[in-house]
Amino acid sequence: MTLIPPVTRLDALSDVEIRGIRADFPILSTEVNGASLVYLDSGATSQKPVQVLDAERSFYERDNAAVHRGAHTLAALATESFEDARSTVARFVGVREDEIVWTSNATEGINLIAYAMSNASLGRGDEASASLRLGEGDEIVVTEMEHHANLIPWQELAARTGATLRYIPVHDDGSLVLDDLDEIVNERTRVLAFTHVSNVLGIVNPVDVLVARARQVGALTVLDACQSAPHLALDLVALDVDFAVFSGHKMLGPTGVGVLYGRGALLAALPPFLTGGSMITTVTMEKAEYLEAPQRFEAGTQRVSQTVALAAAVRYLSAVGMDRIAEHEARLGERLVAGLAEIPGVRVLGQPAGTHRVGLASFDVAGVHSHDVGQFLDDRGIAVRVGHHCAQPLHRRLGVTASTRASAYLYTTENEVDEFLAGVADVTTFFG
Ligand code: PLP
Repeated sequence: MTLIPPVTRLDALSDVEIRGIRADFPILSTEVNGASLVYLDSGATSQKPVQVLDAERSFYERDNAAVHRGAHTLAALATESFEDARSTVARFVGVREDEIVWTSNATEGINLIAYAMSNASLGRGDEASASLRLGEGDEIVVTEMEHHANLIPWQELAARTGATLRYIPVHDDGSLVLDDLDEIVNERTRVLAFTHVSNVLGIVNPVDVLVARARQVGALTVLDACQSAPHLALDLVALDVDFAVFSGHKMLGPTGVGVLYGRGALLAALPPFLTGGSMITTVTMEKAEYLEAPQRFEAGTQRVSQTVALAAAVRYLSAVGMDRIAEHEARLGERLVAGLAEIPGVRVLGQPAGTHRVGLASFDVAGVHSHDVGQFLDDRGIAVRVGHHCAQPLHRRLGVTASTRASAYLYTTENEVDEFLAGVADVTTFFG
C-alpha cells in the first residue's frame, strides 16, 4: 500500500523547449500594466496555443455542421471530427471511446452522475440501474479538500435521496487523514468522490488507497481529475476508478467542453440526466426509448468545435509528453513552495514532506488580504488567483478565509516563478 505517491525524476523540459512552447501561445508575449505578462493562473484556466485556436477556426471554416443527423457531406465530416476527438481523448486517459461522454465542463460531469443517480433512485431506468439507487441508510463520502463542484452535487444528491454525506478530514499539513478510513468508508458507503489533485494544495492524493478501500466495500468511485488530467499522465484503467471528470479549458482546450469517463457497464446502467433530441431511438407521445451511452448522455445540439479543439490540445500535450510536463511542474512547484516558505510572514497552505505535487501553491501573507496581494502583483503584470478558490471548507479547516494561489503550466519558466517570488517578498515589505 503506497501512502505517498513516489516522486519520480525524469528529464525536465529544457529552456529551449520551453521557449519553443511559449512561442505557440500568443497571449504569453502580451503586456499587462506595462509589464510582460507572468501568467500564474493556469489552475483556473490555461492559455491556448495556436494549434488549438487554428483547429477550432478551421472546423468552422471547413467542416461546420450539426453532428449525428443530416445526410449531407458536411454533417458527415463534422460527425467524423467529433467522434475522432472522442477517440483522441479516450486514448489520452487510457479508456474506450464509448466510455467518454462530452459535457460542458467538470462541474456538469459531476452533476450528471449525481442527477442520473437520483433518477435511478426514483425508479427510472432498468433493472441494472437498481444498483445505482440511493436511499436512507446509504452514505456518500467526499474529502474535506474538495472543490465545491465535487461537494455540492453530493450534498444535493444526499438531500434528494435521504442518504448521508460524510467526509475524510485533512491534517494541518493538508494531507488526508487516513487513520479512520475504514470507519468512514464502510459497508454503507455507496459513493466515494474525491479529487486527484487539490486545486488549493497542489498535492497528489493516494488514489490507490482510496480506491482499494472503496472496492472492499463495493462503493462507486468518482475521481475529480480537473487538476490532474492537464498536469500528469493519467491512466484511468490503471487507477481503477468508476467515474472521472475533467475540463478542457484547464488543459489548453477551449471553454465549453468537459469530459466524463464512466466504466462501460456503469454508463450502460445509468439513466439519462438531460433528455431531448439526439439521445433517443423512438419517441411516442407517451414515452421514449434511449440510445446507448455515450449518446444517451449527450442531449441536444453538440459542442463540436470545442471537442475538435480539445483533441488538438490533447495532441499538443502528448507531443510534449505528459511525464515531462509533470516533471517540469514538480520542479516549479518545489521552487514555488521553497521560495514562499523563505519569505517572512508567508504561510504556504499544505506541504506534507515528500509528497508528489503539481506546479501550484496557495499561501497566506500575515496581515495582508489576498485581494491586496493579487492587486499588488497585477500591477507588475503577474496574474494569480485570490479568494477561497471554491474550497471554503478547506480554507476554514486551515484557519484562513482566503489565500493567494500561483499555478504554473508547461509554458511557465523558472524566471517567472522567481519574479513572482520577488513580488511576494515586496508585498510583505510594502504592507508590513
Ligand atoms: N474540481 C477542481 C479540483 C477544480 O480545480 C475545478 C475548477 O477550478 C473544478 C472541479 C470545476 O471545474 P469547471 O469549473 O471547469 O467545471
